[in-house]
This record gives sequence, structure tokens and C-alpha cells, in this order.
Amino acid sequence: MARDETYNIAICTDCYVGLPFNWIVKHMRDKHGLKCNEERVLNCLNITEPTMKAEEAKAWLKETQSVVHPISRIPVEDGYGCSLCFYSAKKKTVLYNHVSNVHRDAIKKGLIVERKVQKPFTSRLKQYIIVNSVDDDETQDIPHWRATLNEQFEETLNELTQSGYVASTDLRLVNTFIAKIR
Ligand SMILES: [Zn+2]
Ligand SMILES: [Zn+2]
Repeated sequence: MARDETYNIAICTDCYVGLPFNWIVKHMRDKHGLKCNEERVLNCLNITEPTMKAEEAKAWLKETQSVVHPISRIPVEDGYGCSLCFYSAKKKTVLYNHVSNVHRDAIKKGLIVERKVQKPFTSRLKQYIIVNSVDDDETQDIPHWRATLNEQFEETLNELTQSGYVASTDLRLVNTFIAKIR
């Protein structure tokens, strides 16, 4: 047993799979023939509060279709993603089904893209999420770059407001600017 600290997910180090806290005792008994209780699990993981539970995991999967840092000890696999939404899967055929069911009216070209994926949990929480690993350089640069742009934009806006001069061309520029920094 191990715990991913970023996401507070318990992981079976034999099966390389995430386990909602309330599934651990059953998993250990059924898959590994080990008897334990929740208290021992807490001790084993060296924590006092339970890790992510099934209901929390369900909600988490719903709002987290992609992660920047992969969940530790769970394999990152080559899979596929939909370019129109966050849907991802291991098999291309699953993506074809998704596209024809969900985006039937959209242009078909280029909808299925290769992605790195992870399957955090199994059984009824079986779902792939996208792993968007980025270089450290990039993750550091982007917020700074955006902050600078936002600052410049606010300055420009202040100047415009103070001078009381907002011509239509300037508004168009401002709109383009907003579009760019989004
Ligand atoms: Zn296991
Ligand atoms: Zn989609």
C-alpha cells in the first residue's frame, strides 16, 4: 500500500491501481488474502484521516478529466483523446464510438488524438484521465507571461478610462487583447 500525496489517493503497490479508502479492506482480502481493518490501513499508510473515498473519487473523476502530474505508481499508458472534449480511453475504437455518439454533427477530421492516459481506479470507477505532462520550464513560464500581459492590459485600460477617450478602434484592440490572453 502506498499513498499519492498530491491527490490523497491510496494505491495498491501490487496491482498498480488506486483504491478508494472504503474499498481497501475488501481489496486486500479478496485479491491478496490479507485480513485487515480500516484502522490498520491508516496505520500502514501512516495517516490519521482516510484517503479519497469512493464517492469523493467519483466526484473527483467527474471534475478532473486531465492532470498535469500523473498519479504516482499508476502506469501512464498510450491512449487516445477526443479533441472536442476531455474524453479519453485506451482503445481507439472506444473513441470512435464516443465521437459518433456525442459529436455526431461535428466535422470528423482530426477528432481523435493520441494522448497519455491513466486509469486511476477500477470496477465501477473505471475511467481514463488525460495526463498533460509539461516541461518544468513551461509550467513556470506561462503564469508569469500571463501575469505580465494582464498587468499591461490593466494599465492600458486605466489610461483609456482616465483620458476618457475610448474610440471604437481601441475597443476592438482591447477585445483582441482579451481574446489573446485567454
Ligand atoms: Zn492489489
Ligand atoms: Zn468528445
